[in-house]
Amino acid sequence: MINRSWVEIDLSQIKENYRIYRKQLPQDKKIMGVVKADAYGHGDIMVAKALAEEGCSDFAVSNISEASGLRKAGIKGQILILGYTPVNCASMLYENDITQALVSEEYAEALLKEQEKLPGKLKVQFALDTGMNRIGLDADDPVGCGRIIRKYAEKFELTGFFTHLCVADTDTEECVEFTKGQIEKFRKTAQEVEDLKLPYVHCLNSAGGMWYNDNPGTFARLGIVLYGLKPDNENTLPDGIRPALSWKSTVAMVKEIHKGETVGYGRTYRAAKTIKAATIPTGYADGLLRRTSNLSCVYINGYKAPIIGRVCMDQFMADVTGIPDIRMGDEVEIIGENQTADELAAQIGTIGYEVLCNISKRVERRYIDLIHFKNT
Ligand SMILES: *Cc1c(COP(=O)(O)O)cnc(C)c1O
Repeated sequence: MINRSWVEIDLSQIKENYRIYRKQLPQDKKIMGVVKADAYGHGDIMVAKALAEEGCSDFAVSNISEASGLRKAGIKGQILILGYTPVNCASMLYENDITQALVSEEYAEALLKEQEKLPGKLKVQFALDTGMNRIGLDADDPVGCGRIIRKYAEKFELTGFFTHLCVADTDTEECVEFTKGQIEKFRKTAQEVEDLKLPYVHCLNSAGGMWYNDNPGTFARLGIVLYGLKPDNENTLPDGIRPALSWKSTVAMVKEIHKGETVGYGRTYRAAKTIKAATIPTGYADGLLRRTSNLSCVYINGYKAPIIGRVCMDQFMADVTGIPDIRMGDEVEIIGENQTADELAAQIGTIGYEVLCNISKRVERRYIDLIHFKNT
């Protein structure tokens, strides 16, 4: 074991989160496990396998590399790419049996040209734009959307269509009205193509699934709640849903810093009195956002330790004054029991999603089974 900077991922907690959310959703909706961005830093192959053990057979990713990586690892079932894939990757889509989102009519036409070179049809789903203005057909015109979906349903193996809610995590009156409007537009397009009986019709993300279950969808695309975090810091999660990842590092050295001395690049921290400081071998190259400099805290032996000075590429310093017996090799918690990724994110004006996705490849992933451990 190399105890420098590592994360511990509790796959049984991800399964538990899946089961709890499963109960929240109406029976007519299945779960698509969103495992893009290496499953929000948790390891996409391990997470997909864990979800598959719970009966999940539909996954969503952001790009073709993620999709083909999952296939190579033996993940079966649907793998949907939620965004743009260059059309010259058509054969890779086909060979890996991957479902591609159609981001526009122009894109559909271009992909169709590429499909002509293939021995069969590509699996696709149309994206609908119901107000986010990111990708998809303009759902202000449901009749037009219906016509386009119908046209390409004959040409591709079209398995469904979807939209994305952009303020479902916020419960102000304006946001609730907007989300209802998005779902209404979605419903109208769904009515236009009802007779096609498409199996994949979906508009819910994690936030949507908590409050907007009255919709024509057959699936909910769940990301953040499976990992036990909140779509928005104001949200409350269903009971029992908890973070599955902790991020740990270790104390490299402890030293005294005298009154008036400064710490780190740019000398942004100056000791107002003599303090005890620890140097910790995790930096922004490990994904600890540099914004945490002089702002966030970590925890050592259960005590809070403020980050002092600028976070360096590979190390940072923390004020450990008052932490008894702290020494080289003590475990440091960056995210864990004392501080969730959401809480760390709130301190620096971002969201838990970004904190998690930012944990870099060089941070070792360790898989543990805490629930099982707790129960025995
Ligand atoms: C990322 C993403 C999701 C999952 O969102 P969460 O808030 O993590 O549940 C669902 N759908 C689309 C299109 C996405 O891009």
